[in-house]
Order: sequence, then structure tokens, then C-alpha cells
Amino acid sequence: MARIQASEPAPLSHTLQFGRALLPDGWAENVEIDIADGLIHAIRTDCAGISSSRSSLTVVSGLPNLHSHAFQRGMSGRTEYRLSAKEDSFWTWREQLYKFIRNATPDDIKAISALAFAEMLEGGFTRVCEFHYLHNTPAGSPYTDPAEIAGQVAQAANAAGIGLTLLPVFYAQGGFGGQPPSDGQERFLNTLDSFSSLLDHAERHCETLEGAVVGVAPHSLRAVTHQQLAAMRTFRPDKPIHIHIAEQIKEVEACLEWSRARPVEWLLEHADVDEHWCLVHATHTDETERGNIAKSGAVAGLCPITEANLGDGIFELPVFLKAGGLFGVGSDSNVSIDAADELRLLEYSQRLRFKRRNVINTDSGGSSGRMLYEAALEGGRRASGTSARLAPGHSADMLVLAPSEILSGKDTNDAILDEWVFRRGKASIAEVWVRGGRMVEQGRHVRRSEFEADFLRALKRILD
Ligand code: ZN
Repeated sequence: MARIQASEPAPLSHTLQFGRALLPDGWAENVEIDIADGLIHAIRTDCAGISSSRSSLTVVSGLPNLHSHAFQRGMSGRTEYRLSAKEDSFWTWREQLYKFIRNATPDDIKAISALAFAEMLEGGFTRVCEFHYLHNTPAGSPYTDPAEIAGQVAQAANAAGIGLTLLPVFYAQGGFGGQPPSDGQERFLNTLDSFSSLLDHAERHCETLEGAVVGVAPHSLRAVTHQQLAAMRTFRPDKPIHIHIAEQIKEVEACLEWSRARPVEWLLEHADVDEHWCLVHATHTDETERGNIAKSGAVAGLCPITEANLGDGIFELPVFLKAGGLFGVGSDSNVSIDAADELRLLEYSQRLRFKRRNVINTDSGGSSGRMLYEAALEGGRRASGTSARLAPGHSADMLVLAPSEILSGKDTNDAILDEWVFRRGKASIAEVWVRGGRMVEQGRHVRRSEFEADFLRALKRILD
């Protein structure tokens, strides 16, 4: 039984001091931020009297994590061996996933999710878009409350103190063209009617979570028919809508066989894709498709660590960026959780692919660390349906970096972001604040020990 309660409420009103801050219009020094009721109330710059213990600290807006399956944190480190003599792939990994979740209870999912969310905060993410598809009992029937597990995930987010964009997933088919579901998918399935009820219940679970957003997620073009996809868009038309797409070559081949179109090509032709959409992965796209995603206003949801871990492939950035495309990053399978690692691997995968440096940097000059960070912030905001920024009236979601002593007065402020993204990662993170509450101190979540104990109990139960 997981013993998770809500985190301590943040003090109603307080003032924080920082040596520097990256504000929407650029860097500022000697900054005071007033916080009231979880929101930024006022920001003052060039203040006298910043305390010596705070003057070395740099504050930036926390990043949204635009794609996660929190329960998969339970499999992290447990699938790194070869399963098939012929070929190990995403598809053999998926079989391990189906086995892992066979007996997991709602309490187990809550315990695993709480640790995953705590680790996201430790890694610099202050909000998570939780793409939640585990809905039913192991026998495949709905719980009395059809959003039982979604509710446990919402409680876990509340306990860890991370902002939540909950995306209940609609999953009905086992392959393109309305194929029947396969063994192992029983816990994911809904009809449009049962999903509508699940969505209502999920919203009720989130009512008491400050700043929570509830959107929808058709799982993939494999898992929904054309008609079901059209219906999904009507459920919550003003909220985020996320879909897995073009992650695997086999998926592209199956889509071509079914429709004579590639997945992204098909989606852009048959759905009204706009800025509410997040196309997760979009790995196997051609230049025309990537240009058209950019034109649509949809965000490309890139998950470099998971895409590397699963052997998916590389989303090619240059044409997409040139067309003004937005992207964000997500921790997806949560095999390891760190915002800086995601940004670094995204850039490094481009360098390996194109055999040149600083690919994110489409202009000459400027810091690649800052460009990666700011791009992921903008894409993450849009995909999560929020307006995260360090400005009055916005949620006080802040990442506090403690630069190393190597950085000297001659270095630019941007060097702090370069150091975080390219060299130190989590070691740069001193504090993480969400809605004005300090959830991470000296790099560690304030409730990590308790969450770890609950996580280990849940894992033992699932694996025994
Ligand atoms: Zn995913």
C-alpha cells in the first residue's frame, strides 16, 4: 500500500533572491521574485542586498516534459539484455512491457509514478504531460471508477508536486485499418462511449490539482480508426491532443500498405492538425512531412533518450527548424530522466547524423545550450496547454542552477546554460520550485526516501 499524501502546501507569500535570472526579454541580474498563492506576483531586477548565499544562483523557468508513461519507470534498467536471437527491437521490448503491467495494481502504479515524477523534478522538469493508457483491470474490465488508475497518477503528481497535463489515451485497435486488439492490450481498451465517461472521471480527479490540464490522446494510428480519431478531436477541442506517430519503420510500412500514405502524411491530410496537437516522435518523416508539421503549428514531441534506447531513429531538425517548427522534449519510457540529457542527446544525434557541430544553432553566434533550452520551453508550453514563463501572473515554476566555479566573470550568462546542458546535467541543479514550493533541495527531491521505499515495495510485488 503506497503511503502518499499531498506535499506540504507552499507558503502563501514569500520573496526569493537570485544572482541572475533568464526572463522572457533576456538576462537580468540581482533579481527578487515575489510569490503569492503559487504565482509570481512581481519581479524586481538590479536589487541591492542580494544575500551572499543566493548571489551565485541562477533562476530559469522550469521545463515541461511533454511525453511520459510514468509507470514505465518500473522497467528502467530491466530490459537491457537481448531477447531475440534474430533481432531485438521496439516490438520485443513491447512484449516485456505487456508482461510487466500484467499484474500491476493501481497502488503500484501510484508508487512508481510518484518516484518517476520526483526524478523529473530533480532533472529540471516542472510539469509532465502524462500520456496515460493503462486504464482497465488485468482481466480487461473497467474499474468501478473508469479513471481509477488515472486518478492514482494524478495523486502521485500531487504528492511529488509536479504540474500535470493529463492525457487519457484512447486505444481500441491492434493495427491499421481497425484490426482487433492483441493479447496484452486488454488493460488499454475503450469504446468511444466508455472513453467519454473515463475522461469525465479523469477531470474530476484533477479538479483539486492547481493548474492541472486534461487533454486527450488517441494512442497512435495503429490503435484508432479514422472515425474514432475524428471523434477524439470533438471531446475537448480546446485542449491539447497528443498522438504517437511514425516512431518505427515497420509502422510506416504498415501505414503505407493500409493507406498508400506515410503516417504523418496521412494524419495531416485526414485530421485538422493545428497548434493543439503534439506529434510524439515523428521520427520517420520526409522533408515535406516535417515542413508540413511546422506549417500546421503542431509541436514535434521528441524523446531522444527513449528513441535511442529503443533504436527508433533520429528526427532530423534542420528543415523543420528552417520552416519555423516547434519541438519539445519528453522522457517517454523514463529509462533515465534528465532534461539536460534529453537536450544534449538531441543535439548530439544531429551532429552525428549531419557530421557538423551546433546544428540547433541556425544563425551564427549564440549559445546552443540556450537555444535548445528556449526551444524546448516554447514547444513544451504549447504541448502542455500552459503558459510557463518567469513573469508576473504565471505559476512560480523555477529551475535554480548553481554554476560551477570554472565559469568566470568573462563568461556570458548563456555559458551557465551551456554548462548545464553539455557538461554537468543534474549536477548543476540546486533547487526546483513548483507553484512557489521548493520540491528539490541540493539536487534531491524533498520526499525521495519515502517515494523510493514505496517504489521498491511495488516493484517487488509486481516482479515476484
Ligand atoms: Zn510514448
